Amino acid sequence: MQKPNLYNYSPEELAELMRMWGQPAFRARQIYRQLYVNLAADTAAMTDLPLALREQLAAETELGALQLVRLQQDDDGLTRKALFQIPGGHVVETVLMIYPDRATVCVSTQAGCAMGCVFCATGKLGLLRNLTAGEIIEQAIWASRELRAWQADPPQTIAASAVRSEFPSDEDQWWGGEGDSFSERVTKQVGRVTNLVFMGMGEPFANYDRWWQAVERLHDAQGFNLGARSMTVSTVGLPQGIRRLAGEELPINLAISLHAPDDDLRTSMMPINQRFPISELIAASHEYVERTGRRVSFEYVLLQGQNDHPHQAIALAKLLRSRGPSGPLLCHVNLIPWNPVPGMPLGRSERQRVLDFQQILRDYGVACTVRVERGIAIAAACGQLAGSAT
Ligand code: SAH
Ligand code: SF4
Repeated sequence: MQKPNLYNYSPEELAELMRMWGQPAFRARQIYRQLYVNLAADTAAMTDLPLALREQLAAETELGALQLVRLQQDDDGLTRKALFQIPGGHVVETVLMIYPDRATVCVSTQAGCAMGCVFCATGKLGLLRNLTAGEIIEQAIWASRELRAWQADPPQTIAASAVRSEFPSDEDQWWGGEGDSFSERVTKQVGRVTNLVFMGMGEPFANYDRWWQAVERLHDAQGFNLGARSMTVSTVGLPQGIRRLAGEELPINLAISLHAPDDDLRTSMMPINQRFPISELIAASHEYVERTGRRVSFEYVLLQGQNDHPHQAIALAKLLRSRGPSGPLLCHVNLIPWNPVPGMPLGRSERQRVLDFQQILRDYGVACTVRVERGIAIAAACGQLAGSAT
């Protein structure tokens, strides 16, 4: 039988476990610190606990449920993708992206996904199973350990080509010239995982309760201490999830996968649009903005010749500029040139088409950026995660 995963325990549940084991209450706080601050990789490393307690933990609990199957690197080691096996035999992927001023981890919330978007590698798998809160949390813990190891032994040189995007971005000023001591700057500035995006495998709102438990735990100032504004969730666009998030206390960021300006096209790309068409999505977005005062991001994957025509950019701009009860929608568009998935008869929009699309949106007054992609060569970029161990 599977032993319980310590990362599934809340602080209260750890306290209850210690009470049952006849331990003083402060032991629970020590263990919690070991898990979320020290990032102990094994109970033997929890040297502030008595040996007998360490042994009992090792015998009766599991320090994490994810088994690392494979680690891949790209961008001179600045992008790292982990493939984990989860109890039951399925696999999930996590990506760590290191930048000069921050480090972002992209976390999965489900093994596979039920939504079946035609352009997405994960969608091809169907839903295999929901991840537990602990399994979601552990991915962030893995990334922190990985970053710590990278910082302890930083690379000597990183080619500018490894980090430059093909699209101009505010980040370019950071990279500096080829000869700059980039890694020195990075190791000085990035102390820890600073950003977390729920944009890996799965639809977070289809596993809402466990996903939200993970958000709250990772936010806890006594533990991992990641700010709410440093977390972003991306959804296929489930209106009930958007409304529920609007009512949560923690102000995490919301990104919605829109990808098309009209229902026919969106339905052909994303089957979920049949149940929740664009009008419902926009209505829920207006509600979200009114209730929270925060803007929403719309993701728009660009497929050559499908949804990247100038007239579609105009239709998108008009859709987003349409007025809700209290004015135009407070929003931002993030364009994602499609990342290739083997066997899919689709194409990535050419650079000039992307720039033209962006310019039209801006001309209509819609804020718009192009997502800087990482790890395409190791299938670690958006929508390429399929958990193949071969
Ligand atoms: N299930 C959620 C979050 C995971 S996908 C969602 O769909 O929003 C994260 C983002 O990558 C989404 O915007 C998704 O539409 C996009 N995406 C999926 N496949 C892609 C691909 N092959 N290339 C680029 N983006 C892709
Ligand atoms: Fe699922 Fe998101 Fe992929 Fe669609 S894009 S299949 S919702 S993971």
